Amino acid sequence: MKTITTGKVKTVYDAGEGKAIIEFRDDITAGDGAKKEAKEGKGSINAEISARLLRFLEEKGVKTHLKEFVRPNKFLVTKVEIIPVEVILRNIATGSLVRRFPFEEGSELNPPIVEFGYKNDDYHDPMLNNDIALALGLCTRDDLTVMRRLALKVNDLLKEFFFERGILLVDFKLEFGKTHEGEIILADEISPDTCRFWDSETREVMDKDRFRKDMGSVIEFYSEVRRRVLS
Ligand code: UDP
Repeated sequence: MKTITTGKVKTVYDAGEGKAIIEFRDDITAGDGAKKEAKEGKGSINAEISARLLRFLEEKGVKTHLKEFVRPNKFLVTKVEIIPVEVILRNIATGSLVRRFPFEEGSELNPPIVEFGYKNDDYHDPMLNNDIALALGLCTRDDLTVMRRLALKVNDLLKEFFFERGILLVDFKLEFGKTHEGEIILADEISPDTCRFWDSETREVMDKDRFRKDMGSVIEFYSEVRRRVLS
């Protein structure tokens, strides 16, 4: 199969007939790829978590790229043109938000904050406003409106899904793609690599911050997220 892109942690292959295969590798990176390691089993853990979450969202009426989870670590997906805009949802202030603005670490954000970022490692994924996104030709004004609406819906659904499993959905990043017919659907993954998860009771970190901040037990916590997501 022809490789379409080799990303930092996933490889995308052309499967023909408007479809693609996404392979979740065991690599884990932070700081725009500056820090990089392989953690055995991470690819399959993230694939399984993402498959369950994307299926849950589909059941709730959110269209996604996932057609089939090919165990242990591949997705058969609808091939889409990824919109180079990362949509970030925040329910609790942490990470880059508290580095850039005077929010108190760990404080609740109600209503949640939606942020757009330019998906471009060379520029370190800078925050976008609507005018910059349009001037760069990344998407249309309507696309931004649709992505914002879908991201808020996904947040409502996932917040409850995780709450029922003893996990606070702190923040997360979504990517959307355009189908051949021009429809915007949810793409990429939803996993401990792309979300912040805190245990509801202890506020223990259960996501990629364990790798970013050298907290250890990365795979153990990813596995615990998988256990709860599948429960
Ligand atoms: N995120 C991501 N990919 C990115 C940027 C952010 O998956 O390129 C996720 C990140 O894991 C977190 C949320 O989006 O769940 C918000 O990240 P933040 O802006 O706080 O960035 P960071 O502190 O990781 O630099």
